Amino acid sequence: MTPAQTEGPYYKANPPQAADLLQPGMGGTKLILSGYVFNADCKPVANARVDFWQADANGQYDNTGYTMRGYQVTDANGRYELETVIPGLYPGRTRHIHVKVSAPNGPVLTTQVYFPGEAANARDSIYNARLLADVQPAADGEVGTFNFVLPGR
Ligand code: FE
Repeated sequence: MTPAQTEGPYYKANPPQAADLLQPGMGGTKLILSGYVFNADCKPVANARVDFWQADANGQYDNTGYTMRGYQVTDANGRYELETVIPGLYPGRTRHIHVKVSAPNGPVLTTQVYFPGEAANARDSIYNARLLADVQPAADGEVGTFNFVLPGR
């Protein structure tokens, strides 16, 4: 089961449906994060809602608009794919992406995804190593994978 984590202060309801959070001229290192949503029986969950929000490359959240915020739904294989930038650091936290994941009609799992090799991971009291993405360099930035396992069936 994927551990739940605090939502934090920056979630905004009613984000746009968007798997690609990149905008023209946006700075930062491109990241493609993908993976699957499974239920407690390890069956892939199609049409799960996966709602990401994060700081931009400068560690800033957009609290007036919806930059770096968007939800998507998993495909028939339970797969999601997020196109974004590596989030910047902000005071008090290690590098992370927030997410809410829910199966159709299921409860909402609120959690965060972390990055390997971050010195600040050891200093962040919220950090959980079970939420580490597998991140590798790519030709055009980085590619990461993380699978979510929901509590329901
Ligand atoms: Fe945050």
